[in-house]
Amino acid sequence: MTREMTSSFLLVTFAICTLIIAVGPSELLRIGAIDVDGHFTFKPSDLASVSSDFGMLKSPEEPLAVLHPSSAEDVARLIRTAYGSATAFPVSARGHGHSINGQASTGRNGVVVEMSHRNIGTPEPLVEPEEMYVDVWGGELWVDVLKKTLEHGLAPKSWTDYLYLSVGGTLSNAGISGQAFHHGPQISNVLELDVVTGRGEVMRCSEEENTKLFHGVLGGLGQFGIITRARISLEPAPQRVRWIRVLYSSFEVFTEDQEYLISMHGQSKFDYVEGFVIVDEGLVNNWRSSFFSPRNPVKISSVSSNGSVLYCLEITKNYHESESDTVDQEVEILMKELNFIPTSVFTTDLQYVDFLDRVHKAELKLRSKNLWEVPHPWLNLFVPKSRISDFDKGVFKGILGNKTSGPILIYPMNKDKWDERSSAVTPDEEVFYLVALLRSALSDGEETQKLEYLKDQNRRILEFCEQAKINVKQYLPHHATQEEWVDHYGDRWDQFRSMKAEFDPRHILATGQKIFQNPS
Ligand code: FAD
Repeated sequence: MTREMTSSFLLVTFAICTLIIAVGPSELLRIGAIDVDGHFTFKPSDLASVSSDFGMLKSPEEPLAVLHPSSAEDVARLIRTAYGSATAFPVSARGHGHSINGQASTGRNGVVVEMSHRNIGTPEPLVEPEEMYVDVWGGELWVDVLKKTLEHGLAPKSWTDYLYLSVGGTLSNAGISGQAFHHGPQISNVLELDVVTGRGEVMRCSEEENTKLFHGVLGGLGQFGIITRARISLEPAPQRVRWIRVLYSSFEVFTEDQEYLISMHGQSKFDYVEGFVIVDEGLVNNWRSSFFSPRNPVKISSVSSNGSVLYCLEITKNYHESESDTVDQEVEILMKELNFIPTSVFTTDLQYVDFLDRVHKAELKLRSKNLWEVPHPWLNLFVPKSRISDFDKGVFKGILGNKTSGPILIYPMNKDKWDERSSAVTPDEEVFYLVALLRSALSDGEETQKLEYLKDQNRRILEFCEQAKINVKQYLPHHATQEEWVDHYGDRWDQFRSMKAEFDPRHILATGQKIFQNPS
């Protein structure tokens, strides 16, 4: 044994002994004895690496162990042990750990299943070009799904803005981006799932088979099962993207245009509709807007806004290289119907894959400045269309002041593209907006960049919505009490609770969401 091996052996032994003293030997021995093709790890560095997340808002709580599974059966064996124990213990799938509030954690007595850590045996994405779908492991990252499907000239239809997220993680929420108005969220583009329930059963489910579980798991915040395989619908992949940004000083005109764009049917329409709010020198500060420079330098002062809030509409037109002669004309015709500030058109043209992977470039830039691994008190809200103007007055032009500490996205979606049977919760209106306040806190920044300041602002925003009776629903929700969860689900709470009783009766799964009491 080398000196390094000896010291890491001693470290692991020490960690196990410490854990045994802390939690009692029986759990650890029971977990260690589970026969899996992958492996368990008890190493302090592994426990530490799964105990915090992108939000960095909570002090990390390390689990008992981490499972690196090789198959759905590995996950099932673990859950069957947890389910069959006199004292059940929590098990949470962890995708890429990009939650904000510890949703993928288990606390000190649980086991985290590292779904995105590639292990010997975890299946590669399998594309069926004739059938236009891809089968993927639940922990697969979307960026790898894209790479694989592009080999066949195909791609999923609906995306998130950022691709380093896991399939199981986004399908447990919804998975939204500028394509959602047309294709629906990612959960509307799934054909079949393999799920390990809280009883440790591996169940195949789809529109035809185990339908209740299928719809329940989609948007189900990990409460009913761990997704080990998803079959995702594909389309022919575009080759290039014309990416356009235009500015507005009037919120009414901006939202009218956005709503017009998402109401268009037929062949000729934009493929992606998003937007963001600029309340300060945000074009400079905003990590999502590198687009404006250096080829398209813009200063807010160059656009007449009298120092008030500006709104940026972001749209794209996908095309095949063979259509490069006609794309200009097509875009021009579509743009004619819009009422943006005429001097504020910023256009770029890039490969489809570079467009989809755009946020990763911003990530690399922020990482190089040590600005990625900082606390992220993000708040994502679905706001009903009928009240979006009140939200603008109260929040964008009110509570936010003139500093935002990060991008604020705003774009509308059509509710008829969301399957009512899924567990995802949206406002009760045909059109609703996502408002995403994606802020980063800096401990050595100005007062307005500090974590407590931003958290307090979030609290004030939620309070304002409640007082103004704007019936918002949180996306990627985080609620402190069960009363708040009951309110979140509204008249769907009874069904949600009864699904829990059926598929995870001992409350083993995804306890980090804090919806139900801990395992019993
Ligand atoms: P995790 O955070 O690891 O897990 C999230 C929850 O899902 C946990 O409760 C976990 O237990 C559960 N879970 C994970 N895997 C599985 C599984 N296989 N089966 C069942 N349950 C599982 N979201 C959007 O919709 N659109 C965006 O554009 C978008 N952009 C983002 C950009 C960045 C930079 C970041 C950090 C997040 C973004 N998100 C976006 C949010 C993202 O969808 C969520 O963080 C989501 O939780 C996915 O992250 P993850 O795969 O790391 O899952």
